[in-house]
Amino acid sequence: MTQTSMYDVVILGCGPAGIQAAIHASRKKTSVLMLGRMNKSSLFWAHVENFLGMFKTSGEDMLKTGLAQAQSFGTEILEEDALGITHEKRCFEIETESGRKVCARALILATGTTRNKLGVPGEKELLGRGVSYCVDCDGGFFRGEDVAIVGGQSAAAGGALTLLHMAKSVHLVCESLDVSPTLQAKLRESGAVLHEGVTVTGILGDKQVDGLKLSDGSTLPVAGVFIEQGAKGVLELASSLGLTLDESMKYIQTDKNQAASVPGVFAAGDICGPPLQMAKAVGEGCVAGTLAATYAKNLKLAQEGPEEEEKKEE
Ligand SMILES: Cc1cc2nc3c(=O)[nH]c(=O)nc-3n(C[C@H](O)[C@H](O)[C@H](O)COP(=O)(O)OP(=O)(O)OC[C@H]3O[C@@H](n4cnc5c(N)ncnc54)[C@H](O)[C@@H]3O)c2cc1C
Repeated sequence: MTQTSMYDVVILGCGPAGIQAAIHASRKKTSVLMLGRMNKSSLFWAHVENFLGMFKTSGEDMLKTGLAQAQSFGTEILEEDALGITHEKRCFEIETESGRKVCARALILATGTTRNKLGVPGEKELLGRGVSYCVDCDGGFFRGEDVAIVGGQSAAAGGALTLLHMAKSVHLVCESLDVSPTLQAKLRESGAVLHEGVTVTGILGDKQVDGLKLSDGSTLPVAGVFIEQGAKGVLELASSLGLTLDESMKYIQTDKNQAASVPGVFAAGDICGPPLQMAKAVGEGCVAGTLAATYAKNLKLAQEGPEEEEKKEE
């Protein structure tokens, strides 16, 4: 790749949304570059059992196969993060972490969301082995077990109610419960055990989670812990391009074509908001990839004219 290369479509993100977008855009005979790292996708550590046609599979396997598929259709992959994006006259200019600059006629944002972490010992080490950030995804793996959910907002309270249908016991750990009176009453009557006014200081276990260390010095024996502290927003990315956010001010607003508020910018996957699930990410990636390719082709025609376009396609 030269120092500043022009692509029809540049995709930020190597997760299911980005990969599906790459597959669809590449098959429309556009030049496609995908930035990002597969092992930074939320899916990388997941055990999946709710995707069409797959009884049980690993996220890592799905991502590896998807990347190979995208490459087979012509997608170029650069395992780097984008550090900055500017909107130039003829393209979007993206600067990567190694200082490379690439130009895109159409840009797809598929950078997911970073789940808010607790930042305590054991959290990283036991991710996927009892530590989860998604009740809907992983709750079913803890049927008949004692589990904890950490967080004081509606995501955690709602998660605790969901887990009660599956787990033997559900402990909700939070500094304070900040939910509507109705949800609070429902939770208090639900049978979930509330541990208010404490924080988690460590996650215990060798190969699997076997307990939580709490700030009052006690230990809570559980086989799983769900960290539900909301998801970080995408404000930096959105503000550098002047994109409109949705009502929650946490996600990028798109229309039914996955187009964001700035022409030529599309978004797909977790970055567009809940449900934070692969099936949704893949569906949105398909739409974004297809329409970004069409947008780029039309722009190229307008910029270069049909003759130039035909010569290049020969
Ligand atoms: C533990 C766990 C288990 C899960 N289990 C399931 C499940 O069973 N079923 C299900 O449907 N869903 C599951 N999910 C949710 C699912 O993983 C996500 O919904 C899905 O991965 C979202 O896809 P995405 O492409 O939007 O983002 P991600 O998969 O998170 O990918 C984001 C990509 O963006 C890249 N990126 C970030 N910043 C930049 C940047 N500045 N420049 C370039 N690239 C960047 C990253 O490197 C990464 O490649 C699970 C999630 C977790 C955390």
